[in-house]
Amino acid sequence: MCKVVACLWITFLTDLFQGTDMALNNPEGSGNGYPQRRGWRSSCGKRRFKYSDLSLEIIKYLTSLSWVGLPEQLGVRRHLKTCVTYHEKFQLYDLGVNHPFRGDRFVKSKAFFDEKGLFQSTNVVLMEPKPASKDDLLKVHTEDYVNRIYRLAELKKPYDIDTPVSSRILEGARFIVGGVIAAGTAVFERRVNRAVALGGGFHHAGRSYGGGFCLFNDIAILIEHLREKSNLKRALVLDYDVHAGNGTSDIYYSDPGVLYISLHQDPRTIYPGRGFIHEIGSGEGEGYNVNIPLPMRTGEKAYLHALEEIFLPLAEEFKPELIIANGGSDAHFADHLGSLGLTAKGFFKISRTITAAAEKICGGKVVLLVGSGYNITVLPYCWYALAAGVAEPDLTQDVIEDFFPAPHDPWQNMKQVETVLKKLKIVLRKYWKSF
Ligand SMILES: [Zn+2]
Repeated sequence: MCKVVACLWITFLTDLFQGTDMALNNPEGSGNGYPQRRGWRSSCGKRRFKYSDLSLEIIKYLTSLSWVGLPEQLGVRRHLKTCVTYHEKFQLYDLGVNHPFRGDRFVKSKAFFDEKGLFQSTNVVLMEPKPASKDDLLKVHTEDYVNRIYRLAELKKPYDIDTPVSSRILEGARFIVGGVIAAGTAVFERRVNRAVALGGGFHHAGRSYGGGFCLFNDIAILIEHLREKSNLKRALVLDYDVHAGNGTSDIYYSDPGVLYISLHQDPRTIYPGRGFIHEIGSGEGEGYNVNIPLPMRTGEKAYLHALEEIFLPLAEEFKPELIIANGGSDAHFADHLGSLGLTAKGFFKISRTITAAAEKICGGKVVLLVGSGYNITVLPYCWYALAAGVAEPDLTQDVIEDFFPAPHDPWQNMKQVETVLKKLKIVLRKYWKSF
């Protein structure tokens, strides 16, 4: 009954605001990929009156109700918040004193976000997730593999030399995966505008294997959750991590419902040694696995150029219903494990590019998973840049700071990257009209 009343209200308000230019993708918007809300104008363009505060309050109230099917022609989605998932238990995912993946990344980033006032923003809501259940994990992973990890956790034995396991680590992993499920579901069901899942992006885990600090592939778990629960048909995964996501790639290698695009450092120079141009997918999924290997010391301009040249046209042609982007700060120029040349401002631009593409292609439905990074000093700056790029439409890149100043002569490799893109486009031409 309430739903009917709300829908009647929305219909009434739609009529009331016909002729306004509140719609998203307003070509006269702010120029940063987001629209600017304006007052009601008459057909001759002269401002007649500003909509009343009462009407605005009603719209805000209605859009806060998760069960209301939101009429996007109203443009009221702008009032929905971006959720950021965080739980203090995330820090249990601490792989040891001498390990590059420590649990303090979560605490330090959360403190930095607080310092920057991210959670005080009217655009942002903090969401505390529940842990993922064993059934959630089994949506992607084999029973043998999941049971093995649970057994290793009890015995406190590592999965491999890089990937220790304990009951604390398992608990941390389940909370992080739970955060990714909660964030992605909230976006897909339009309860929030966009989402940032802190800690997410365990892209090295396949169906029956882990490794590279990863136990469970949260990206695939989210996709399978949404396929089952919300009939998701087409998802685009953009992997902006410095490492190729061999796990995600393997899981969807022959699946045309998931377009996997990965930008990463040349696999001949970094773990996991996968992600070459010729790894294009197989069977029905041939053409849906796209790798952009970037030479060591590729700089920000060249990285962003590659992103725009491949990701944007493919996203437009594939028309996903949801974009999931995973990575973190390990493509930063000061990262200890990677050798690419991004700065915090570059991460902000990545985040903005993804968000603007989602606005254009899939009603803004994007979830950003932010978990990697192995220089703890720069990590909070980069994670903030990524989160703010999604959550704060009015923020300009001038306010994004970096702990280190950008390199005087930023590594670029533009020519080498152009060569890679040329080769890749020749391969992609067989499958995609855009090239
Ligand atoms: Zn990585």
